[in-house]
Amino acid sequence: MYKISKDTNGIVLLCHDCSHVERINSFNESLGSPRTQAARAMQNHSREKHGVESLEITSGTIPIPQRP
Ligand SMILES: [Zn+2]
Repeated sequence: MYKISKDTNGIVLLCHDCSHVERINSFNESLGSPRTQAARAMQNHSREKHGVESLEITSGTIPIPQRP
């Protein structure tokens, strides 16, 4: 899971589970919506680092991050 925030450099996606950040303005607009690319990159991060299969709600269940 992640949240969208904004800093002096533009819009950023912040990982809920660690300090990972994706910056929307670091993606090339010619490849499609930077926001979509950033969301996809964050999904890949969540899957690889936190074992979250998908952030999209497809089955009516919301993935809940595990807390120690
Ligand atoms: Zn993370």
